[in-house]
Amino acid sequence: VFQLSVPLNFLGSVYRELRQSLLDMETLFNLQKVNVSIQELPDAKTLALTKGGEIKFENVSFGYNKERPILRDLTMTIPAGKKVAIVGPSGCGKSTLLRLLFRYYDVEHGRILIDDQDVRHVSLESLRKSIGVVPQDTPLFNDTIEHNIRYGDLSAPESRIIAAAERARIHDIISSWPAGYHTTVGERGMMISGGEKQRLAVSRLLLKDPPLLFFDEATSALDTHTEQALMQNINSILREKARTSVFVAHRLRTIYDADLIIVLKEGRVAEQGTHKELIDRGGLYSELWSAQETLFNSDGEKEVVIDDS
Ligand code: ATP
Repeated sequence: VFQLSVPLNFLGSVYRELRQSLLDMETLFNLQKVNVSIQELPDAKTLALTKGGEIKFENVSFGYNKERPILRDLTMTIPAGKKVAIVGPSGCGKSTLLRLLFRYYDVEHGRILIDDQDVRHVSLESLRKSIGVVPQDTPLFNDTIEHNIRYGDLSAPESRIIAAAERARIHDIISSWPAGYHTTVGERGMMISGGEKQRLAVSRLLLKDPPLLFFDEATSALDTHTEQALMQNINSILREKARTSVFVAHRLRTIYDADLIIVLKEGRVAEQGTHKELIDRGGLYSELWSAQETLFNSDGEKEVVIDDS
């Protein structure tokens, strides 16, 4: 029995690794156009979240090419355990922040610190394990719903998968399908809506339960009612666990309760504060808020697309 269990365990771990690398590939493709020159230092240490997950951008400059800088001397702090929102015109570099944080690219100038450790000095594995993302668009695997959620934590029992789906507000929908959690999705399976995909991505993230969470337009495909219900669930989990979370959102109604709102413009922080502070300030945020509220009141579902020009 002993002799048999060794190779089986071994196969099990190969299988898990394969799945895990598929998951990493998924994140990778989502964040697109990866720079293969990123190398880990030979003496890279494991990222240690000694302060509860504080993220600092210090004088960060970055562009995908020399002619067009995207971030210009950007300095900001995302405090540990807080909910932070990043707002700014389309194309101003919000998703780029995430790519730099994950170290899919390196900064040109300045540095990015997580609990005082430069992301360039820690192992890539420990860095990427610590951050969970709900990306703008989540591709699904040609696999069952259950497995698509399980990528968040390959050892999770079914009960935790269901609990995650419940909190992500998709359990009832899944249960209404004839094959339930065994329904195959993806290109060769059932086609599901953008909003369902987003909720699957949230389920996966809740199951992974990483110390740092990043939501990149994670609820943009949902109707206002479902979005609010889902945000309530996410907020209560974040509060309960005191997780550091970053929300990139165009619809300000989804983030106005953040502990800190950072408004980016032309590659820098234009203003920051709580919703109330920013409204009182009467700057860019308050303009965006008024524009969206006017539209929201006249037509409940539409959103204002922020134009950089
Ligand atoms: P949105 O709100 O529309 O999602 P964003 O603020 O997240 O936008 P980013 O995706 O960070 O913006 O992109 C910032 C700018 O960099 C954009 O003008 C984009 O076209 C450009 N860009 C993004 N990825 C690359 C790349 N790999 N090569 C060259 N330019 C890129």
